[in-house]
Amino acid sequence: MNEKVLKSLKAATEVFWKNEGYMEYEAVKPGNAFTMQDIEAAEDRLLKFAPLIEKLFPETEGDAGIIESPVERPAGMQQYLDEVHGLELKGRLHIKRDDILPISGSVKARGGIYEILTFAEILAADHELIDAGEDYSQFAGGRFKEVFSRYTIVCASTGNLGLSIGIMSAKLGFKVNIHMSTDAKEWKKKMLREYGVNVIEHMDDYSHAVTVGREEAMRRDDFYFVDDEDSVTLFLGYAVSALRLKGQLVEAGIEVSAEHPLYVYLPCGVGGAPGGITFGLKEVFGGHVHPVFAEPTHSPCMMLGVMSGRHDEISVRDIGLDNVTIADGLAVGRASKFIGKTVENMIAGFYTVQDDELYRLLTKLWDEEKMKLEPSALAGMTGAYRLQEALPDFPAGTHLVWSTGGNMVPDEVWRKDYEAGQALLKDE
Ligand SMILES: *Cc1c(COP(=O)(O)O)cnc(C)c1O
Repeated sequence: MNEKVLKSLKAATEVFWKNEGYMEYEAVKPGNAFTMQDIEAAEDRLLKFAPLIEKLFPETEGDAGIIESPVERPAGMQQYLDEVHGLELKGRLHIKRDDILPISGSVKARGGIYEILTFAEILAADHELIDAGEDYSQFAGGRFKEVFSRYTIVCASTGNLGLSIGIMSAKLGFKVNIHMSTDAKEWKKKMLREYGVNVIEHMDDYSHAVTVGREEAMRRDDFYFVDDEDSVTLFLGYAVSALRLKGQLVEAGIEVSAEHPLYVYLPCGVGGAPGGITFGLKEVFGGHVHPVFAEPTHSPCMMLGVMSGRHDEISVRDIGLDNVTIADGLAVGRASKFIGKTVENMIAGFYTVQDDELYRLLTKLWDEEKMKLEPSALAGMTGAYRLQEALPDFPAGTHLVWSTGGNMVPDEVWRKDYEAGQALLKDE
């Protein structure tokens, strides 16, 4: 373990750690449990389901049922960040707008929805409702609903996974039990209940909610547990984003090469979303992409798990941290071992961010770009600057901030965070 970094982690001060286990992708690849074919199979399944998505969620009509977000260029924000960091960023800042993904307004719309569709397809085959050649928009029909209503989808969530799975499952006719950790925001629970979802509240953290959900589902044949810590299906659903991103970058004329690498900054909770995206990025861009993970100073579970090599055998509580943060989507004390083991050699670096910084960035991003994000989604915003401060000699390239959530946040809730950021900015 890097003792100096560990000391900063314990003190909950912001720190950047260059992953000593980061490897050339060509050396990592032969040991991978998954391949590009797995990602392409996931993309094919999503394409088959696109007519259904379009039918169930009219907001996806413009994209013919494909759930995707744009890449944008926050030039004003880059200028602001240059000023506060007192440096000129080597390269251009871009932002991947998963905060406006259709259906559930967060990165979880990728993995969560994909896993529910995959399960629905299995059930449809088991019950001989459909064969592979048929039009999947039929999944919205009564015959399917009747079968799906006999099953209960179970998952544990800090909020957004519950939203994505709850909304999709309820639309298809499943019963849904969502186990919410203590960090989950009131409005997320309320919204789910409006969809008819059974929300079970826990006074404990995320890892506890997962354990309870998993045990509940194990006892019943008609329960299906979406396992945020261990699901390969979720992982591959997230990975599809990289194929889509490739097309978007080509279209925007943004080169990704040895001379012009791509740096991607990903907010990390239990690890599923950033882990799946990282795997996809590496399969698509190989050594020309460098993923960097961002976590709250009070919940740096993945950094701790990877740095110590202990993965899910160590919790942030073991080093004296409380796992309490405004970034509810990242409030995870114990990382996924499956994800840690799968992608630990694909992550270039990790850094931590204080809650106050998330508030300030939330406010500034609205002022500069009129983008409305939730606190967790801002963790990646300063990654490029943190990298340049820590490793001034890295080659210039494109810096892509993955903005992971925001558009479902009720205005009055978001406004409070905005005002908190305003107050902090005024004090400076
Ligand atoms: C869940 C979430 C993340 C991180 O995803 P994990 O799979 O938990 O690592 C990041 N940002 C937001 C807004 C989230 O909801």
